[in-house]
Amino acid sequence: MKRFKVLVINSGSSSIKYCLFDVRTNSRKSDARFRLYYKGLIEKIGQKDERVKNHKDGIRLLLDELVRTKEAGLKRLDEIFVIGHRVVHGGVEFEQPTVVTDKVIAQIRRCFELAPLHNPANLAGIRACRELLPDTRQVAIFDTAFHQTLPDYAYIYGLPYEYYKKYNLRKYGFHGTSHHYVALEAAKILKKPLKKLKLITCHLGNGCSIAAINNGKSVDTSMGFTPLEGLVMGTRCGDIDPASVIFLEKKEKKSLEEIDRVLNYESGLKGISGISNDMREIKKAAGQGHDRSRLALDIFAYRIKKYIGSYLAALGGADAIVFTAGIGENEKDIRAKALEGLFNFLNKKKTRVLVIPTNEELMIAKQAFHLVRG
Ligand code: ADP
Repeated sequence: MKRFKVLVINSGSSSIKYCLFDVRTNSRKSDARFRLYYKGLIEKIGQKDERVKNHKDGIRLLLDELVRTKEAGLKRLDEIFVIGHRVVHGGVEFEQPTVVTDKVIAQIRRCFELAPLHNPANLAGIRACRELLPDTRQVAIFDTAFHQTLPDYAYIYGLPYEYYKKYNLRKYGFHGTSHHYVALEAAKILKKPLKKLKLITCHLGNGCSIAAINNGKSVDTSMGFTPLEGLVMGTRCGDIDPASVIFLEKKEKKSLEEIDRVLNYESGLKGISGISNDMREIKKAAGQGHDRSRLALDIFAYRIKKYIGSYLAALGGADAIVFTAGIGENEKDIRAKALEGLFNFLNKKKTRVLVIPTNEELMIAKQAFHLVRG
């Protein structure tokens, strides 16, 4: 038996989440067993009066903590076999987890304009790790990669084609690591190879998206060019008539940047209910007779139902509908409401409903380990 340590880094604009996994393998490489050893969070990066001025300070701090903390079980940093980094946007450049090289860094940089809030922070974490641990391999895992299998008729928008050619303006989809992970887990539960299954996976957290997966490949997904498209989310609006933006710009005399902020941070459950972006609080308020909270719940569930229905049509049925993430895993009433009536169209015996906890960190650890180990 051999043992390895795999570090997973999720580097955001002001925080870094990290997990250290212990991996045991026997002679059959596919039998690698992963165990979470330690996890932590560095916060308030770059904020006034904080000692963590930038991502390099943050990475230095977390590496120090890993060797200092007994539970991490790490004596020296060179025991880390590989570091897996979450990267939000891989554009059209990345279809797979990829070992980080100078060329890969340049490609991630090219995706900055597609995800200006996320990719620069993701790359800052990668660069800091490369500087501090130059001999340790780094792997980038992209939220968009799993959806790179979408057919062109699902990812091209009804805009002049030249914008797609000029700017790669198209649907990408996100939460790919989570959709892929729960799909693999569903295949285990259904005792069939993923390559022989039709699945609809619903990731319902603060951000929400649905994917249609045919024979292991994502063939459609609700998020789009950015994570704004699709379902109603905690603070994001999801699908709206694009003309609403032009209307609001005139009526509210807001700049496009301000409207962008409204669509991303002031809309969704928060905007409709006027109470909160948190499902638990909205449910509580709805239970106490708050009508806008009741409406937020109805809209949220109805949008999920519409997407599930359309993906049932796209796939020609499904072996399972899978729910995951904070709301998907915990909110039975939302699941029931979203599925209400749908089974009239389905063969109940054929389509299972599964609730599977997501584990994006584990998926990143596995992909990084297997890519480097071969
Ligand atoms: P994120 O996208 O930030 O990772 P989560 O997957 O943690 O989000 O989901 C957050 C949402 O899940 C919130 O709307 C929260 O109200 C809802 N939720 C409902 N029940 C629970 C629960 N028992 N634990 C955590 N979140 C829950």
